[in-house]
Amino acid sequence: MRAEPQSFDRVLSSMCTKPHPVAREAAMRFLATNPGDPGTYPSVAALEQEAIERLGTLAGLADPAGYIASGGTEANIQAVRIARERARSSRPNVVMPESGHFSFRKAADVLEIDLRVVPTDADRRADVDAVRSAVDDETALVIGVAGTTEYGRVDPIPELAEIATAHDALCHVDAAWGGFVLPFTEYEWHFDHAAIDTMTIDPHKMGQAAIPAGGLLVRDAALLDELAVDTPYLETTSQATLTGTRSGAGVASTVAALEELWPGGYADQYERAQANATWFAEQCRRLGYRVVEPTLPLVVTDLPTATFEGLRDLGWRLSRTSAGETRVVCMPHVTRSMLEAVVADIKGLQQGRKVLSSGI
Ligand SMILES: *Cc1c(COP(=O)(O)O)cnc(C)c1O
Repeated sequence: MRAEPQSFDRVLSSMCTKPHPVAREAAMRFLATNPGDPGTYPSVAALEQEAIERLGTLAGLADPAGYIASGGTEANIQAVRIARERARSSRPNVVMPESGHFSFRKAADVLEIDLRVVPTDADRRADVDAVRSAVDDETALVIGVAGTTEYGRVDPIPELAEIATAHDALCHVDAAWGGFVLPFTEYEWHFDHAAIDTMTIDPHKMGQAAIPAGGLLVRDAALLDELAVDTPYLETTSQATLTGTRSGAGVASTVAALEELWPGGYADQYERAQANATWFAEQCRRLGYRVVEPTLPLVVTDLPTATFEGLRDLGWRLSRTSAGETRVVCMPHVTRSMLEAVVADIKGLQQGRKVLSSGI
């Protein structure tokens, strides 16, 4: 097999990134281990406990429980599943802002719960009043997003948790992307800030771990029992994950990345990414485009379709929001010189020239 993976040199649309060298090395060493069978593979199972302990430190939880999932999608599905199992109603509903990730639609589909999607406010954060009017006695879960996929917004988590508590519902925070940058901001988003029950926090996004490494954290280990099924042919008696066999690569690379980068390395990464986002937003403004203020390292700007397509033709990997704006995620591999090259290409396209991007 001679194929090579593509480089990250022009990738501006991904929420994943180049794994840190220590994470890559750990992933390769643990590739052939299966934390889904802890009786047979005890060393990777122990490592998974360490990964959860370390993620708990990021997320304000002294005694965390959870597991390393295949990604944010699985963690979100499992959070909805916990809430459904806890619900007293036979027709439970889940309330989520429209900025919530599409994985919750998959969850609603497979778990057959009613997903109530409510509008966001003028700043694209969950509208607390809209959430309040959508919840009722059948609400099993209120979802808040800490770092939305499209605009990088952080919902008012303490208020959402209060609404959940008042209705005897659980509260889930989706910090799949934001979890590794939010510790360096002033936002109130984690277990120590609000009465939240479950959280998605993905090492394979801003955490620089290798794919697949998603994180599901729960405040109380008893919540995981809602997911447990009997495992007759394994040494251990039950399993709480959605997948059965799973790679130890994600587990090992999570521990390796956290050991290497928490907290100083991630703090530096956040500072660099946020400075890049602020710089790029300013350049887009100067070029005459409207920009959604990057409150986290993610810039949304309204480039014309021709410019967006021109950049794609030049090899840039960009994506669009559902409203059609251009979205640039300032992941760790996105350097200032890459952004300078994009800005040069935008200028070239504005002048109607077909430019060949230089610099990288
Ligand atoms: C990326 C993302 C997800 C989905 O995670 P996967 O690892 O792609 O399954 C869920 N929620 C948010 C907010 C995300 O950004």
